[in-house]
Amino acid sequence: MKIEILEKNETNLRIIVKEVDVTLMNALRRIVLAEVPSMAIDEVVMIENSSILQDEIVAHRLGLTPLKTDLDSYNIPEECECQSEFGCPQCRVTLTLDVESKEGTRTIYSGELVSENPEIVPVSDKIPLIKLAKGQKLKLEAYARLGTGKKHAKWQPVAVSAYKYFPKIEVPSKKCEDCQKCVDICPKKVYTIKDEKVDVRDLLACNLCMDCVEACPTEPKSIKVEWVKNAFIMNLESNGGLPPERILQEATKILDKQFKEFEEKLKVEYEK
Ligand SMILES: [Zn+2]
Repeated sequence: MKIEILEKNETNLRIIVKEVDVTLMNALRRIVLAEVPSMAIDEVVMIENSSILQDEIVAHRLGLTPLKTDLDSYNIPEECECQSEFGCPQCRVTLTLDVESKEGTRTIYSGELVSENPEIVPVSDKIPLIKLAKGQKLKLEAYARLGTGKKHAKWQPVAVSAYKYFPKIEVPSKKCEDCQKCVDICPKKVYTIKDEKVDVRDLLACNLCMDCVEACPTEPKSIKVEWVKNAFIMNLESNGGLPPERILQEATKILDKQFKEFEEKLKVEYEK
């Protein structure tokens, strides 16, 4: 297997993976979406709410506010030693909000949530939560826990987890009819004209839509678009809670754990 990093920053990871099967790529993609844990607000105790929004809507908005995640210091509640429905400091973080509009209308942002752990805070402090009119108050206590996307989408650590086949494009080596239709139609601007010939400008941008092949008026087609067997471009976009490379590492650990569990169960059945 060969891996090449195309892009890596705080939230995005784009890699080329070669010599792997599509099934592995799909397993990783799905585990990233559904099984890598992240932190999200799961329970809200409303102390005072005189805003125009119902408690449930405020709680829903808080749940969907992405939080910084620390997988090393916190346990998944189901696996925590405390086994308490309220949780303990190892499986729960308390955030509080106590705001009031003293004059005029005021927007309350995620940055006003006060967390008991300064590491577990919203990924951005500029997410609008609610607008309060003069005299309205909102006071609440929120409990964040680790969870997974298969239970609720608020626990998905990513906004994007996707892969595509690695494109392979053959352009005519000689000057073709020079209609430029393929160059103009491509939504991803893959082609350019170089020395009066069609040339590939950005191969990796190709999403194999085949518009260029359809647009080509020659028969047989002078442009050929295919995909490379067992090569993929994977794209992860974290919601900011965890670095994208950590999310992928966790996904591989989870896949490994599932295989080990399968192996163990199989052994037990054999020995029966
Ligand atoms: Zn606990």
